[in-house]
Amino acid sequence: MPNVSLVQCKDYQLETLKNKIRQSLSNIGFDIKRFNNSRVVLKPNLLMPAKEEKAIITNSEFFRAVAQIVKENNGTPVLVESPAIHSLERVIKRTPYAAVVEEEQIEIANPSITRTLTYDEAKKFKYIDISEAYFDADIILNLPKFKTHGITYITGAVKLLFGAIPGVEKSKMHLRAPAHDDFAEFLLDLYGAMTYGMIPSKPIIHIMDAICVQEGEGPGPAGKARWLNAVLAGNNGIAVDYVAASIAGLDISKALTVVNGFKRKYGVSSPKEINVVGDAIKKLQIHDFVPATGSSLFSNMFRWPFNTPTFKNLFLDRPAPNETKCTLCYQCKKICASGAISESTGKKDIPEYDYKKCIRCYCCLEICPEAAIEKERGRLQWVLGG
Ligand code: SF4
Ligand code: SF4
Repeated sequence: MPNVSLVQCKDYQLETLKNKIRQSLSNIGFDIKRFNNSRVVLKPNLLMPAKEEKAIITNSEFFRAVAQIVKENNGTPVLVESPAIHSLERVIKRTPYAAVVEEEQIEIANPSITRTLTYDEAKKFKYIDISEAYFDADIILNLPKFKTHGITYITGAVKLLFGAIPGVEKSKMHLRAPAHDDFAEFLLDLYGAMTYGMIPSKPIIHIMDAICVQEGEGPGPAGKARWLNAVLAGNNGIAVDYVAASIAGLDISKALTVVNGFKRKYGVSSPKEINVVGDAIKKLQIHDFVPATGSSLFSNMFRWPFNTPTFKNLFLDRPAPNETKCTLCYQCKKICASGAISESTGKKDIPEYDYKKCIRCYCCLEICPEAAIEKERGRLQWVLGG
């Protein structure tokens, strides 16, 4: 039965965070003396350069608190992350992580050196190239920021491990698993491989920053910051995500990595098996949290004969740039693995979209720094209530 620690935390003061994180690790039975002489990978969410108050990235003081706990126990913290399109150096430089890394003397791993992780028990993706730094670690601390997400409904512990795949290689995975269900299954293959398939095996502890989170059209600049006031921890990412979604009062049946994760029986197969230690879910639960509009029911029908351009254009939301917000930075073009975006032809000051090629992965929407890409409803979406 997995333990999930849930601890109320209302600010990002360093000493408060350290106390809450120590308490969280103790609640799940993890002895911090295990950091002694260990190489400890710290994996935050550094999706893109972003201001702390937008709640896009794992809070830098939260990261500092974890790093200091590791160091105080004679461990070596190593920052490992691969942002979506920018280099890790650039994201660090343009966020408060620059000061933290310098002041705490944090080693930074090169995320683009990869090794193939093989997991025969995976449903479909048995070989996945991930950053080599995970293989070199003694302990992995996954530090997700809890946010809404247009495809997987939430992003937390399971989804954050997607960052183990370098840079834009991530967006290519959407081409291999275009239906939302398939994408969640891919994430669970990766989660299973990292949790059970590493040789030698190593502990992965998920310590979630759910203090100031994102609601609405997360997980990028279009999402809105919202205080959830919680630190969660556990060694089962599916259980941690379940508890986070529960305190946000979300509809768990839409959180694909959680419901499909339960079906896989990766250490937990139902909410009844989760033991919450610390504060009760009810104490922190809110009821007006705004989910992403994203995840259309029809996104899961992305297989023949429903994957035709005509079907997609009639029944699925399509990404549409807004001319008044767009700065023509073309980060959307850079991330689009299906080549659906090209530069403006001059008719409008926005990128040109080829909706026949678009697979509706919404990576462009997630990454647009101006939150300039909106979802336009398919012309007949209303007929099916999607
Ligand atoms: S839509 Fe966004 S990402 Fe694309 S060019 Fe405009 S501002 Fe840049
Ligand atoms: S245009 Fe946007 S939503 Fe469509 S495939 Fe490209 S990145 Fe994905």
